[in-house]
Amino acid sequence: MSSTPAKVISLADRRAKKEDEARNAPITGWITWLHCPKCKTLEYSEVEMPDGRVHKKCGTLVEEEEVQIDVRAEYTISLRNSLRLDELFKQTKIPGFLKPIAKKGIGMLENLQAAEDEYRKRLKNIAGGSIEPYPNDWDEKSLGMELKTLDPLGVILTEARQPNLHFPEVGY
Ligand SMILES: [Zn+2]
Repeated sequence: MSSTPAKVISLADRRAKKEDEARNAPITGWITWLHCPKCKTLEYSEVEMPDGRVHKKCGTLVEEEEVQIDVRAEYTISLRNSLRLDELFKQTKIPGFLKPIAKKGIGMLENLQAAEDEYRKRLKNIAGGSIEPYPNDWDEKSLGMELKTLDPLGVILTEARQPNLHFPEVGY
């Protein structure tokens, strides 16, 4: 028989539950998609500018579409994308490598990896510091959103990273 009082166990349980909740707590943030109607360009910014902004290149007032995100979810998915891309880089070093990725080229992998790094940098700006990713058993499908997978790479784009969802008329 255990000599530990039930009350103590219950407190420990509650603490563990609280810690678990904190571990899985979302961080709310916003990404803004910017569309220049003159240049037809689309880019995102993590900086909120309530008074609007102009396209640096041409001076035209840009159209803005704000997207609410869970910073931790975005960060976790981006980290996983980077791990996948790292794996693909390694595969390109295998002699006789003839997977579809070889055709697409290493340059594309590098661009994708740079885009992931940049995205995570922006997410850290939003969070105001480092971000702890969700645990390994966290499933991005739990977000219940329209995830886009770039085949054959397996890189996953959340809704916030699919500008065509926010500016469907632009035809990205
Ligand atoms: Zn412009």
